[in-house]
Formats: sequence, structure tokens, C-alpha cells
Amino acid sequence: MTRIIAPGSALGVLGGGQLGRMFAIAARRMGYYVHTFSPDDDTPAGQVADVEVTASYDDVDALRAFARNVQVVTFEFENVPIEAVDAVEACTPVRPAGVALHTAQQRAREKTFLADHGFPTAAFARALTLDELWAGVQRVGTPAVVKTAAFGYDGKGQHIINAPADIEPVWNAIGHQEAVIERFVNLHSELSVIAARGLNGEMAEYAPFENRHRNHILDMTTAPAVVPEPTARRAIEIARAILEQLQYVGILCVEFFVTTNQELLVNEIAPRPHNSGHLTFDASITSQFEQQVRAITGLPLGSTELLRPAAMVNLLGDLWADGEPNWAAACGFPDVKLHLYGKTEPRPGRKMGHLTALGRTPAEAQERAIAARDALLI
Ligand code: AMP
Repeated sequence: MTRIIAPGSALGVLGGGQLGRMFAIAARRMGYYVHTFSPDDDTPAGQVADVEVTASYDDVDALRAFARNVQVVTFEFENVPIEAVDAVEACTPVRPAGVALHTAQQRAREKTFLADHGFPTAAFARALTLDELWAGVQRVGTPAVVKTAAFGYDGKGQHIINAPADIEPVWNAIGHQEAVIERFVNLHSELSVIAARGLNGEMAEYAPFENRHRNHILDMTTAPAVVPEPTARRAIEIARAILEQLQYVGILCVEFFVTTNQELLVNEIAPRPHNSGHLTFDASITSQFEQQVRAITGLPLGSTELLRPAAMVNLLGDLWADGEPNWAAACGFPDVKLHLYGKTEPRPGRKMGHLTALGRTPAEAQERAIAARDALLI
């Protein structure tokens, strides 16, 4: 029998962003105490936590003290330094384990892990030098996408190579950093599967969501994705196989490309709740955040059933360009839910919140979500 960490215990979160905030809301609702650790104060997660620790990720004493005050630690973004996770793991269980974070936080390592275990990816190569970039582009073919291996999330640091003349300028643009070169894929659509694995190996996943990006940032997620049944089944099989391979405990998101030939390729994995799963808060029996609580505390996983078709649209800081958005107008849509993350500086491209709309069909949910977001600017 798995020993559970019961409600009333304290859970630790490394990171202070919106994913930690929604995790903390779910955990507190279930009667857990939440402690967050981040170099910043008054963070989205810290604002709703019981204890907000503000210290640097290289402050080992602060990390140890944080770890000793909680029963289990999780993280809410990939870029927590692995040394910080190691320091915590020496005192308190970290779920998912640091090894999953280590695999996912560097693109070259992640792609190599996927390819070594037979998971389908776009053709790719790694490059540490300009010569290797040349060789990689030759091997992968053009058009190719060059992405920095480290800290390259949300499309930041991506460059297209159409011809050999682009190679050196791209190498300069990425600051001569380690890079991954990927074949540019002709996309039919993009999917994500969010899946959980519990302490006893039990697994549960949400049916695939469909994602649309704008400027490489997630713009809208729709559930359920309208995809052929074999594609949905295969995506779920792959997500489950990745969880097994990593002996994972917690929530994992697998992002997929569906090519114009209906081929399924893994784009990347995120070892945490994911932006595309935010709609589960309002549209599913168990949210991805509650599922994360259940998985890391050893509770049984909850039902992932979708109650109604739903669509989520992100609210970026750009919406504040002409002043405060018209919240009353968006909330005037009775099937729309507003989520704001408590961030005070609305910078362009910054994720400030999201809207989730429910509908009778995925298309109706999309229309409502877009109409509500448009209404913010009235
Ligand atoms: P990433 O940061 O790798 O998740 O990329 C962000 C977005 O850029 C993806 O969700 C795609 O919309 C697009 N993208 C990334 N890599 C490729 C590729 N190899 N081919 C086509 N589109 C891509």
C-alpha cells in the first residue's frame, strides 16, 4: 500500500508563477498547506500560498529549510536549476523526480531522450559550434528551425533557415549557444496530452486538446480536439509510454505536431501542469492542478472526464495597451470564466490570465472565448 500524504500536510512548490498559483488553489481547497519558493516576492503563487519563501535558487540553506517544512516538493516551471532540486531532494521527496526535470529542461537532452526511446520526433540534429550547425542543417534539410537548447520555451530563440546563407546570421543571433536544428514540419494541427502517473503506477490522461499558437505563444486551446480516433489513441499511448519510461510521478504534458500527412510527432514534454490544461479547472471533473496534488501525495487519481466542450484563450499583457481591459464585458458572457494571475506589470507577450468558455460544441466554445476576449477591448 502506498502511504499517502494526507490533507493537513504541507506541500512545497519551487517557482512562483501562475502554474504554482493554480496548484496552490487546488491544494488549499483540499485542505493542504502550500509553501512556495522563488527569488521574487509577491509572486502569483506566493499570493495564494500559506508561506511564501523569497530566496535565491543557489541559497542551499534556504532550500533545505524550505524542504524540511513540507512533506513533498514539486515544481511549476522547467527552469528551476537542477542543483536547487538536488538540494531539496536530499531532505524531502521531489515529485516528479529531478531526473525528469533534467531531461525536459534542455531541448537537446529532451530530443535525444525521445529519439533514443523510439518516440517519433521531427528530424533533428544538435550543434555546439558553427561547423556542427552547418552539418546539422545539411543532415536535417531545409527549411529548418533552429532553437536554443537551453531556456527556449514559448518559441523564444527560434530561427528559420531556408538557405545556407541564413546559417551564420542565425548562429550569431542565438549568441553562439548550443542549438537544436529541427526539420520544419508542415503542420495540420497541434495537440497536447496531459497525463498523470501516481505513486503506485496508476495512470490517467485527458483526451487530447487542440492548441493554436500566435507568435509561437499558445493562444487558444480547445477540448476535445477534433481528431481521428486512431490519432487520439496513438497520442495517449505515447504519453503513457513516456510516463512509464521516466517512472514519473505527477502531471506531464506531451505536445504533439500533427503533420499534413496525419503523422504524429512529439514536439516537447513539460514535466508539470501545462497552459493547455488550464481549461480543466472549469471543464473537467478533476483539474490538472488537483491531479498534480493527488499524484504527488499518493491519493488516487481523479476522473479526467470532460464535463462540456471548452475553449481557453490566453490574456497577454498586450491587452492592457490602452488601459485596463473591460472585465465586466467579458464576465457578461455567462459561460465564460475569468482567471487572472495577480501580476501587476502587463508587459507585451506576458501571460496575465486566461478565459475559459464552455459550449455545446468545441466550435461554440471557441466562438464564445474569442468573443469574450474581444469584449475586453470594448
Ligand atoms: P516550441 O517552443 O518548440 O514549442 O515551438 C513553439 C511553436 O513553434 C510550436 O508550437 C509550433 O507552432 C512552432 N514550431 C516549433 N517547431 C516547429 C517545427 N519544427 N516545424 C513547424 N513549426 C514549429
